[in-house]
Amino acid sequence: MNVADLLRRTAALYPHRPAVLLGEHVVHSYAQLAQRAAALAGFLLDRLKLDAGARIAVWMPNRIEYLEIQYACWFAGMTVVPVNFKLHPRELGYILQDSGASALFMHRDHAHGLEPALAGAASLPVLDVAGPAYAQACASAPATARPAADTAWLFYTSGTTGNPKGVMQTHRNLYAMTLAYLADVDPVHADDATLYAAPMSHGAGMYQFAHTLAGARHVVPESSGFDEAEILDLAARQGPLSLFAAPTMVRRLTRHAHSRRLCGAGLKTIVYGGGPMYVEDLHEAIDVFGQRFVQIYGQGECPMGISVLPRKVIADTGHPAHAARIASVGVAQTGMAIRIDSDDPAHAPGEVLARGDTVMAGYWRNPEATRATLQDGWLRTGDVGVLDGDGFLTLKDRAKDVIISGGSNIYPREVEEVLLRHPAVAEVSVLGSPDPEWGERVVACLVPAAGERPSRRQLDQLCRDHVASFKRPKAYYVLPELPKNHYGKVLKTDLRQRLDALAATAGCEL
Ligand code: ATP
Repeated sequence: MNVADLLRRTAALYPHRPAVLLGEHVVHSYAQLAQRAAALAGFLLDRLKLDAGARIAVWMPNRIEYLEIQYACWFAGMTVVPVNFKLHPRELGYILQDSGASALFMHRDHAHGLEPALAGAASLPVLDVAGPAYAQACASAPATARPAADTAWLFYTSGTTGNPKGVMQTHRNLYAMTLAYLADVDPVHADDATLYAAPMSHGAGMYQFAHTLAGARHVVPESSGFDEAEILDLAARQGPLSLFAAPTMVRRLTRHAHSRRLCGAGLKTIVYGGGPMYVEDLHEAIDVFGQRFVQIYGQGECPMGISVLPRKVIADTGHPAHAARIASVGVAQTGMAIRIDSDDPAHAPGEVLARGDTVMAGYWRNPEATRATLQDGWLRTGDVGVLDGDGFLTLKDRAKDVIISGGSNIYPREVEEVLLRHPAVAEVSVLGSPDPEWGERVVACLVPAAGERPSRRQLDQLCRDHVASFKRPKAYYVLPELPKNHYGKVLKTDLRQRLDALAATAGCEL
């Protein structure tokens, strides 16, 4: 059970197949990728004198070296610690320390300002992937394969609820995820390609093994950020191509393609998830790209692995329950079970519990948090949802974002969906603000569409038409943009802290 064996197997079966491309240029065949990763594994073991089980941090935007380093670590029985490249160096420092990393891979272009991150780890080897040491490392002797049923990936949560926690993903987890991907998401063939549109440091970076297993291509875009023009262009030239995209990325792809009258030629599958996709956005995306979408629901503790809304269900517009189904996050993925923690699980919303082989082994060096999250074999997701009779799961919201006003639960996502119907509203986030009488009151922070400004009266009317009156926002604040993390998720904690200041800012409230 070592995911590196997938690479070893494919390199033996199909050594000359293109494995890694930078944009349109083939950089490695499978034989070359395996050789390079094995040599780098030798460097970690023999030259750096690290042992199996060592944690190796990677701090880079998407680059081909990311794949080389990951497989090298796994060949050597080590654990990859993929660090979100957009974090502050202080946060990188925390992760290096917490994980007990034995080496850090980075690129010299991003070395500037890293001193605070490395202050607490003066003797940590820092390896520049553009430097001669890295090239030499890749030229040294191949390492011996090591079986490893241990932690393959130590993935840090975004830490919106305290310090980030290291999620331990084992080789078994990654195998299970690969099988579920092949069964539920995308049956991969040798001529296919996967494109790293989302950051490799994110769970999306784990969506690679099915392609390695099939001897298919891994395409790394040349631009380090998300460039919708490049992605659509690569799909047209390198298809059939599958990619994972967060909902904001899908929206950007849709708008770009629509404005240029493109239809997504070469795109085989667009997997979306990682945050709520508003149904309107999904319809627009289908109008432009056709039926190529699959939704997944997961979280750091079970990346890409809880439920799936298959392409066939999204496309089955004639089904009587179609509208409800495409607003859901689908059914349990292959090998997973889902349960609702509620007194009346068949009808009432409750916390979503998940069980199966893709659930993490636990939090790194944090038994207390592990005990609170993994109970009786079930992962407590912190999401509130309902299951219908056919096993379709509809998420209401994060438990911590639920607004309780006058004793009633309000799920912000429901109100956000309604406000987004207004053409002058580009983005919106609904949250609770402390209220002496009701406990909390509903407020909305919105970004208007270019050159527009909705009126309070219109927004109130829209809410009256679609939701109960206690769910209607009592204040609307207009912002130039919403605070978001690297994956485009709105940081509600930041917004909550700014509510008083927004209320006091002249002209901010509608
Ligand atoms: P943290 O755990 O650090 O507080 P977070 O809550 O954003 O950060 P992530 O692991 O980044 O955690 O995101 C997972 C969450 O994103 C899920 O628990 C769920 O709330 C949401 N999510 C993921 N996929 C979907 C989806 N397909 N539809 C709706 N929401 C989703």
